[in-house]
Amino acid sequence: MKVYAIPLRNRFRGITVREGVLLPGPAGWGEFCPFADYSDAGSVPWLQAAREASEAGWPAPVRDRVEVNTTVPVVSPEKAYELVRASGCRTAKVKVADPRSALADDCERVAAVRDALGPSGAVRVDANMAWDVDTAVRAITDLDKAAGGLEYAEQPCPTIDDLAAVRRRVSVRIAADESIRRAEDPLKVAVAGAADVAVLKVAPLGGVRRALEVAQACGLPCVVSSAVETSVGLAAGLALAGALPELDFACGLGTLSLLEGDVCADSLSPVDGYLPVPRRAPEPTDAYPASPAVAAAWVDRLARVRALS
Ligand SMILES: [Mg+2]
Repeated sequence: MKVYAIPLRNRFRGITVREGVLLPGPAGWGEFCPFADYSDAGSVPWLQAAREASEAGWPAPVRDRVEVNTTVPVVSPEKAYELVRASGCRTAKVKVADPRSALADDCERVAAVRDALGPSGAVRVDANMAWDVDTAVRAITDLDKAAGGLEYAEQPCPTIDDLAAVRRRVSVRIAADESIRRAEDPLKVAVAGAADVAVLKVAPLGGVRRALEVAQACGLPCVVSSAVETSVGLAAGLALAGALPELDFACGLGTLSLLEGDVCADSLSPVDGYLPVPRRAPEPTDAYPASPAVAAAWVDRLARVRALS
């Protein structure tokens, strides 16, 4: 196995370095990289996903490439325009509701993104649970106007009930992201009428097969997103996106650029807004080795999680 530690280009979820373990097996490589706030029990699905990749491999895909979105952080409208133009993507996800950015700033940024994409592009926003219901209704209405139409608004509020309340009051689609972290969550979201779109991540759901079952059970259109993995873990996300019977939206799998580098020479970086669907993860090199202390901690964590699975 290989333990890696790769600096992030910008702080994300309070971390500055992404760490994890790469596991070899007869089917290829799998990545085990639960964030630090996942308990050992909560990390069991992450290990199941890594073992599926390394031991069983993934189901056959129904498409050979996947459209991905670019992500626009809290930057000036000019910078946002440049980032979107340079990405080559037709869909942009704009981060909104950040403490550093008022609604008027968010509206300007979203309008600049629409300018960059043109009328045929898709603009979505992600509030990462920041709003209460009334604030969300007002903000989504204004952002939808500024964008000349939003594709969807991702996780405007923290709870499923609040998502459902917002969804009843706006015409923009609502996507659930943070509300979906366990396999049973998408069904709860669907039953509550809380979202029009489910954002699925392979690792917390326990692998590609499990995520496919979850997608089918919840009956919502799905967007596959990464957990900011290396190309080894991104390959599993692409396997899911490649195998979903329907895929109507661009996926959040173009996240390698959030990391300073990659463990693979054959990196999964988007070209013209698309990523290929690989049949197995690319072969990792020995790039970005973790320090002995960090490596020992991960070997220990892996053993504890293994004992639970
Ligand atoms: Mg999100």
